[in-house]
Amino acid sequence: MPTIVNRQDPRFEIAHRGHNLRFPSAEADGAGRVEYCETAEDAAEALQKVLDAGLRPTVRSSGHCYEDFVVNNPNGAILDVSMLNQVSSGPGGAPPYQVQPGAMLGNIYQEFYKRANVVLPGGTCFTVCAGGHISGGGYGILARLNGITVDWLSSVDILTVDANGRVVPRHVDKKHDPELFRALRGGQGSNFGLITNFTFDELPPAPSELMQAGISFDWSSMTPDKFVNILMTYGNYWEKHDQNKETWGLFGYMGLNNKSSGRFGISATFTNPDGTVKDLSVINDFLDCFQKCKPIAEAPPGYSSHAAPGRDRGAGMRPPPGDSVCYGGHVMTKNAWITAASDGSGNGIGGGSRAKYKSAYMKKAFTEAEALALYKMLTDDRSRGLIVAVDSYGGATNNPERASDTSIPQRSSVMKLQYQSYWQDASEDEFRLKGIRDTFTAAYSTPVADQAHLGTPYPNDHYEGCYMNYPDVDMTKYDDWRDLYYGTGELYPLLQRVKKTYDPHNIFHHTMSVRA
Ligand SMILES: Cc1cc2nc3c(=O)[nH]c(=O)nc-3n(C[C@H](O)[C@H](O)[C@H](O)COP(=O)(O)OP(=O)(O)OC[C@H]3O[C@@H](n4cnc5c(N)ncnc54)[C@H](O)[C@@H]3O)c2cc1C
Repeated sequence: MPTIVNRQDPRFEIAHRGHNLRFPSAEADGAGRVEYCETAEDAAEALQKVLDAGLRPTVRSSGHCYEDFVVNNPNGAILDVSMLNQVSSGPGGAPPYQVQPGAMLGNIYQEFYKRANVVLPGGTCFTVCAGGHISGGGYGILARLNGITVDWLSSVDILTVDANGRVVPRHVDKKHDPELFRALRGGQGSNFGLITNFTFDELPPAPSELMQAGISFDWSSMTPDKFVNILMTYGNYWEKHDQNKETWGLFGYMGLNNKSSGRFGISATFTNPDGTVKDLSVINDFLDCFQKCKPIAEAPPGYSSHAAPGRDRGAGMRPPPGDSVCYGGHVMTKNAWITAASDGSGNGIGGGSRAKYKSAYMKKAFTEAEALALYKMLTDDRSRGLIVAVDSYGGATNNPERASDTSIPQRSSVMKLQYQSYWQDASEDEFRLKGIRDTFTAAYSTPVADQAHLGTPYPNDHYEGCYMNYPDVDMTKYDDWRDLYYGTGELYPLLQRVKKTYDPHNIFHHTMSVRA
């Protein structure tokens, strides 16, 4: 039976919020109750009762959603499936591998490691949960090596709501409700129903060890030329090596902080395709590329693309545990794969900060004009507190076949950018939001941007849009904003068809949901 936390309950204050404390936008926008569901049957019962009571359901697994999709639900009900969190396999670690939506990524990595020495190629934050993460795509440090999470997904159990308002449990895969299955492979689960389970018939082997290293640059001695050189060197590496399989075990992160933070850095995480770090030539070659840019130091390794300073591990604040050794002139830290995977950032229930995010996929290296646009903004106080995280991408993710059987059409990119700003005080909202918005607009208004869609990474030769798991409601001001997330091909019409068929009353909706 679901546990109901209503406004009178002392747990309500925490229960009705997510991690992004900007939401609910106002108390009146908040949900009226939270229902914690421990089993798929609980979830079906709770969903039916909420519908019968005429309330709007929103679904939550961890509450990490960047935007208001779950929490802004005036007087409605949040169905929380964080306790529906089993991770399992067949006997003796045999497939299939099952993940319930409330399972945290860190627990999934540990369970599959112990059971079968396999890995779900997913994100870096321990406490992000499967429900939203997998249905929105899911990527992390093994993406170049193994692709993204939905590339491995075999079936999904989901509760949909039919035209009569009845809850319908479905098991969907390539043969059963195939279009719905494709929609759930990256199209974002909260468009179509409540997911109760994910199944993977096969998963790649877990690496046994990882090497981590980093370098940093001093803002005080930075010049525009030097900055351009660093960004172009970084981008050129990923563009040049996109189809070089020997490098696919290398993941790079460039954390471009505002000048006031003192320095910015690049970190690298590496395992060879055989899961060992016996041969370090790839990571050494990568780090060597930057010697001409004169880094001031070997940075503490372990920059995290998603860490909120002051709350999580923080961008580059704490190196992961492990043995630090000097290899080929670079200081590196060696770890067992599972140790590094279990060290991810993020917090659990409650806590959090106010935050805003934006994203962009890049098919090519930075141009001089793009780098200069970023330099101009990051050296200006107007973008104080901003972090532009530039992750490597591509490799195995750029498998064109997956563009037609998943809902992640971005299969030609070599970098994925995430703009992030975190703050505590609501009085800073206007300043912080303007800083991140202006920087983003400037970055995508250079000559390589689609001239009809300036201010956005609209799909063209240079860009490939944005990532649905990093949703940004600002984009909805553009008429063609859906192209940013779902591409310009047949995917969005398919998602509309799925929406019409499986959610005819548009029960599952939010600011950026699919509209039939
Ligand atoms: C600290 C942090 C680190 C992150 N790191 C990464 C990363 O490394 N890689 C990456 O790809 N992304 C990353 N993300 C983004 C993350 O993948 C998305 O925020 C994701 O949607 C979170 O899913 P959730 O279930 O944990 O969160 P929730 O807030 O619970 O849900 C997010 C969305 O998914 C929907 N949803 C959740 N559960 C279900 C369900 N059972 N059925 C249907 N819909 C559901 C919700 O309604 C909501 O729209 C990170 C986010 C944060 C805050």
